[in-house]
Amino acid sequence: MTQSVDRSHFDQYMTPNYAPMSFVPVRGEGSRVWDRRDTMMIDLTGGIAVNVLGHAHPALQQAVTEQASKLWHVSNIFTNEPALEVAQMLVANTFADKVFFANSGAEANEAALKLARRYAWQKTGGKRFKILSTLNSFHGRTLFTVSAGGQPKYREGFEPAPEGIAHVPYNDLQAMKDAIDDTCCAIIVEPIQGEGGVIPAHKAYLEGLRALCNEHDLLLIFDEVQTGVGRTGSLYAYQHYGVVPDILSTAKSLGGGFPISAMLTTENVGAALQVGTHGTTYGGNPLACAVAKAVLTEVLKPELMNNVQARHEQLVDGLAKINQELALFEEVRGAGLLIGAGLVPQWQGKAGQLMAAAQEAGVLILVAGPNTLRFAPALNITEAELSEALEKLTTALRQATNS
Ligand SMILES: *Cc1c(COP(=O)(O)O)cnc(C)c1O
Repeated sequence: MTQSVDRSHFDQYMTPNYAPMSFVPVRGEGSRVWDRRDTMMIDLTGGIAVNVLGHAHPALQQAVTEQASKLWHVSNIFTNEPALEVAQMLVANTFADKVFFANSGAEANEAALKLARRYAWQKTGGKRFKILSTLNSFHGRTLFTVSAGGQPKYREGFEPAPEGIAHVPYNDLQAMKDAIDDTCCAIIVEPIQGEGGVIPAHKAYLEGLRALCNEHDLLLIFDEVQTGVGRTGSLYAYQHYGVVPDILSTAKSLGGGFPISAMLTTENVGAALQVGTHGTTYGGNPLACAVAKAVLTEVLKPELMNNVQARHEQLVDGLAKINQELALFEEVRGAGLLIGAGLVPQWQGKAGQLMAAAQEAGVLILVAGPNTLRFAPALNITEAELSEALEKLTTALRQATNS
């Protein structure tokens, strides 16, 4: 028998690598969540850009329960219908010809980086292997992806790190150009740096990277783990920018809360993953894919993308209004429903404090580093939910700035 648990048990039983909020959600509906005492919060975190359709969405409930009564897992010795259907949808709606399924963003990026190396190895016999990445980027926590990421604090103490990776400043095309040599095989970049502070790439930067990759025969990898699946108002952010990668990773929102990720690529590049070169036990499992199919079906509806645009404007206007009164934000940036509010110098370092104040007032928000408040709500958040959230946020930030 288990005894009733609360937040204090986290410190007792869990490794201390997270510092969860005091609020312990037990159920959710749409963009609202409740704890055991029935305290309600409006959720603007969307499970960190995962709960793309909010909590307990009827179509996802139906997909998971229907599939749960049929077939959960078959291994990669077999293929399965939900996986083939999701792959077909991804291919039909993106640049990609080929799909590899995994379970997390890090694993999709791990596959992308391994594919880039393997493709270059086949063409050049190991002369080209170096991955170029950007400072401040985030690509996951496996040793390869945390090394590709541009935040050295996340690899501290885990060395020796994999070799053959270099980092240059983001949105600096000349720096990338200068870093290219004849050992390079790929560039990996987030179209909008999410964890790094919600920093959008300039269109000319992504266009320039595409041109550099064409010129030097490098693969362009877009990490769309955070920006994908409708988050920026198009299915993938590359479509919004009009710059097409060779490899794209997608996760977070793809399962709407069920763990699944995918790496998308072209016929030519994907061919480097011959039988036996890569794999994962759960990747493309029918249960996860049944949910992803339901997610994509909803996200591909124009009404949902229209809501992203309308709620984007509502959120940005709301933050501007808060700023007129409190002068907290230096800049509000991002696209669709991935919005960052960069704090003015006197509030820098205190994003966590403001996030906690928001929770006190009944609204859950995110930070992206110590200097940025981040908002990544469900794409189907309603006008009423968002306006209630903005009211609570205004109250919270008024109190925080007055005390
Ligand atoms: C969250 C994230 C990852 C890592 O995804 P996990 O599912 O945590 O492994 C990788 N890249 C980006 C851009 C992310 O936002």
